[in-house]
Parts: sequence; structure tokens; C-alpha cells
Amino acid sequence: MAMISIIGAGPAGNYLAYLLAKNNFDVCVFEEHKTVGLPVQCTGITTSYLGQLIELKKDFVINTINKARIFAPNNRFVDVRIDNNIILDRTKFDQYLMEKSKKAGAKFFLNHRFLGYKNNIIKIQDINANMIKDIETDYLIGADGPLSDVAKSTGLKGKRDFLIGIQARVKLNNSNVVEFYPFIKEYAWVVPESKNIVRIGLTTRKNPKKALNDFVRKRLKKYDIIDMQAGLIPMYNPKLRTQKGNVFLVGDAATMVKATTGGGIIQGLIAAKALADSIINKKDYNKEWKKAIGRDLLMHLKMRKIMDKFSIKDWNYLIKLFNEEKPKKILENYDRDFPSKFLVKLALIEPRLLYFLKYIF
Ligand SMILES: Cc1cc2nc3c(=O)[nH]c(=O)nc-3n(C[C@H](O)[C@H](O)[C@H](O)COP(=O)(O)OP(=O)(O)OC[C@H]3O[C@@H](n4cnc5c(N)ncnc54)[C@H](O)[C@@H]3O)c2cc1C
Repeated sequence: MAMISIIGAGPAGNYLAYLLAKNNFDVCVFEEHKTVGLPVQCTGITTSYLGQLIELKKDFVINTINKARIFAPNNRFVDVRIDNNIILDRTKFDQYLMEKSKKAGAKFFLNHRFLGYKNNIIKIQDINANMIKDIETDYLIGADGPLSDVAKSTGLKGKRDFLIGIQARVKLNNSNVVEFYPFIKEYAWVVPESKNIVRIGLTTRKNPKKALNDFVRKRLKKYDIIDMQAGLIPMYNPKLRTQKGNVFLVGDAATMVKATTGGGIIQGLIAAKALADSIINKKDYNKEWKKAIGRDLLMHLKMRKIMDKFSIKDWNYLIKLFNEEKPKKILENYDRDFPSKFLVKLALIEPRLLYFLKYIF
């Protein structure tokens, strides 16, 4: 069976390893950190769609949330029902996927850093042994996150633009409602992890620490920060090449992230499924992942462009509109992962929303 080298043991790499190992491929996963799932650089909220991809376990689902409150700058808000949104313990989630793929036969090499690729040979640094190994491989998969070394060393880097995601875990008694602040920096949130801890964060282009401090101070009178986490979030680039011969990119390495909120867990898993199917059944990967998530990622990118141009008045107007019965009902059926169908419906029901289309042209 063909040998497949996956670089990166995040959700996309581990899920792909599981799907391929299950189909008898010889799969090796190389991860530069000594522990899978650490450091955490994620808030870990997903829609319930996650349950359609993998069996949800109490080990890693640490909370579920059914209500979101979306704020406007004038402090008005709209409350919307969100069915069973999932809050993950990212470390346990990544480790669960690793264990699942190990059981299916995949081998994991931690403390192993990918350095380069040429003529079917990957160069891997064994950090513990302080030595460099040359390993022959039939397929190379870059599941190695936003700065993808695989993309860099194989000519697939393309044009990349990033947001910075930053969050603090803060002690706060709360009523299990997610708060979204789409007008603060690129996007800001308060996500309850438990009854007395929230993950409060935002995405921004610059000065992340200051932006987060300002937001935390504005939202909370008194606060007790447990820890802070930050990481890069790639902006989706629809023109990026995700395959070159037997080299493939998946997940954040392929910029498969929602440009509105910065969420990418579900998108990475869906693309991993498309990649496994493409390798197993010799399909065109580019076509397969675009069929599954391309349209929606593009829609998020367009929404991002509109959001970037919004004024305070626009945000206040939008939240006011969503407080009316019909648009609110549609908003409640909005699936954040798949916005394309929803937006057309919404525009038909609420033509006043077309007011915002001026920002596209
Ligand atoms: C602050 C913040 C909050 C976020 N919140 C959410 C959220 O609430 N919901 C959501 O859906 N998404 C969220 N995201 C995005 C989400 O974290 C990513 O989309 C997701 O982790 C992508 O998974 P991945 O497997 O593609 O890559 P990653 O999770 O980045 O995994 C890549 C792995 O590759 C390894 N690696 C990198 N280079 C090498 C190398 N040269 N050799 C070996 N290994 C290497 C890394 O160590 C890492 O383990 C957030 C991101 C940030 C920064």
C-alpha cells in the first residue's frame, strides 16, 4: 500500500490519518510539538454539524449552547436560537482524533518537524534525537496550519493574508449564552466554557493584546484572567492551489477558514474527508473540496468584505432589522458553516438587506 506522510497533528491531519488508515493506507503523521493539542490556539466553538462528521464524546465536548446574543454598537442586541453548538476541549479533541487514527493503524511521530521535500523524499528533524532523517513517501499532505511549511517548500504557498486571533479564559458566572460582537475589530466573542468560565476573544489585524484588553475592560467590570492564547488565522484564498502532483494541502494550510468568524475546524474536517475520498477513489481533490465547502467559503469572504466597510450606523441598522420577526426567524435557521442558501432566502424575505449590497460593488 502507498505510504502517506501527513505533516501536522491538528484536527484536519488527524482526521485524514484516521480515514486513510481505516482504508489500509500506510499513514505516518509528523508533528513538531511533543504533545498533540498543545498549545491551544482556539476557542473551540462549532455548530452541531460536527456530530455529522464524528461521534461526539463527553471527553472533549465540555459544553453545549443553544442561545446567541448578537450585539450592535449602540448596545442593542438580537437573541437567536442556535441549536446545540458545541464547545470543545481542543487538546482532548485533537488527542481523541489521534487515538482513533492510531487504532485504525496510523503511526504518530511527535517532536518531529518537517523541513522540506524533494523528489518524493521528505526531510524530517527528529527534535529529541537531534538528527535529520530522509524519508521516502508516495504522498505528502500539508495539514500544518496557517504558515504551512509544506506549502512553502512545494511552491504552493501562494498569496496569504492573516488575521490574528487572541483570547483570554476568564472567570465569570454566566447564563450559557454566546455573545457575538461583529463590529469590534474584525470579530469578537464571549463563549461560555462552563457556568463560571468564559473564553473571550477577537480577531484583528494589528495590536491584538491592546484590542483584547480594551474589549475585556469594556465587557467586564471585574475580571480574573486564567490564561491567554493567540494564533494566526488565514484568510480564505479561493485562488490558492491545493494540489501539486502527490502533494496536497488541507485545513488552515489551505486557508479553508470562514473569513467572517475565523472558524475552521469543521471546514478542515470536511476537506480532510474530501481528500481521503480523492486519494482512495482517485478523484480530483480540488473539485471535491470545492464542491463541499468552496461556495460557502467564498460567501464568507464576500461577507467579510462587506463587514469591513460597515459603519457603526450600518451595524445598528442591521441588528434592528434582525429584531423583526421574519428576518429573525431566518437568522435562527442560519447555518454558520453553510451560508450560501440562507443569504439568498434572507434577501428575498427582507429586501431592505439589499441596502448593504452597495458595499460589494
Ligand atoms: C484564537 C483563535 C480562536 C479560534 N477559534 C475557533 C473556533 O472557535 N472555532 C473554529 O472552528 N475555529 C477556530 N479557530 C480556527 C481553528 O483553530 C483552526 O481552523 C484549526 O485549528 C485548523 O486545524 P488544522 O488541523 O488545519 O491546523 P492546526 O490546528 O493549526 O494544526 C496544524 C499542526 O501542524 C503542526 N505543524 C506546523 N508546522 C509543522 C512542521 N513544520 N512540522 C511538523 N508539524 C508542524 C502544528 O504544530 C499543529 O499541531 C480559532 C483560531 C484562533 C487562532
